[in-house]
Amino acid sequence: MVDREGRLARFIAHHADPIGHLVGILSGARPRFRDGCYLYVSDRGLARLILARRGYAAITFGHVIVAAGYPADRIWRHELRHVRQYERLGCAFLPLYFLLYRRHGYGAHPLERDAASPTRLFEQ
Ligand SMILES: [Zn+2]
Repeated sequence: MVDREGRLARFIAHHADPIGHLVGILSGARPRFRDGCYLYVSDRGLARLILARRGYAAITFGHVIVAAGYPADRIWRHELRHVRQYERLGCAFLPLYFLLYRRHGYGAHPLERDAASPTRLFEQ
């Protein structure tokens, strides 16, 4: 059994989690729990603007993953790598991600390359 505080602590385990829950809710999806993360699947609402219209499959905020469709294993593993990056980088993740995105774009982004690579920048 998990008490109310435990459930809340699991629901918001990282500072970026509320952003992910907000994106998921504004996409008209209900969360499911998978591998210690919350997954929202939707191609409507905010997910349509952020993901589907830009050709992205999923986006991660802390322990919350919003996906345009139910994620294939390869995509799920990629997003779980981002979860580990959030855990290691803490509050620095989002500013660092956007800073590196401006400099490198998506394809050469160091955190994206790490998430796509069999060798990891951060071990568990
Ligand atoms: Zn990625």
